[in-house]
Amino acid sequence: MKVKELRKYRDRLINEGAVCEYCGAPMQCFDHMEPTSRGGSQEVENLARCCISCNAEKGNKTTNEYIRYLKMKANIADSLLRDRGKIIEEAVKYAVWNMSVAMATTAADFVSKGFVKDWMENSISVYEEQSVGVKIGDDK
Ligand SMILES: [Zn+2]
Repeated sequence: MKVKELRKYRDRLINEGAVCEYCGAPMQCFDHMEPTSRGGSQEVENLARCCISCNAEKGNKTTNEYIRYLKMKANIADSLLRDRGKIIEEAVKYAVWNMSVAMATTAADFVSKGFVKDWMENSISVYEEQSVGVKIGDDK
């Protein structure tokens, strides 16, 4: 399809309320499923309705590569949320445990308290580095 015809076709689809095939936002452009830089054609069979942000993120990936990439991204977001839940859970456990340890007086209790505290601080700082700046506890 010629560029002029493509533009007309694109505008018609946009007017009809077409949506991005990747994210469901309003369509703004065409995506070449097989990128032109990698030999993809300008024919309709190679075009997906797309929004500008998905189109930019997809770059020169093929549609299959892009879908794999989106799944990977979703998995990373998932595991970050899981880890966050785990760290909060551990922090609560530690706080409860720490109260009982604080009341104990033996040397052994003191040593294990120090160890767990270091471990917690370490986990939290690793988490903070990976996440969007959520701070859980700061007892310095
Ligand atoms: Zn999109």
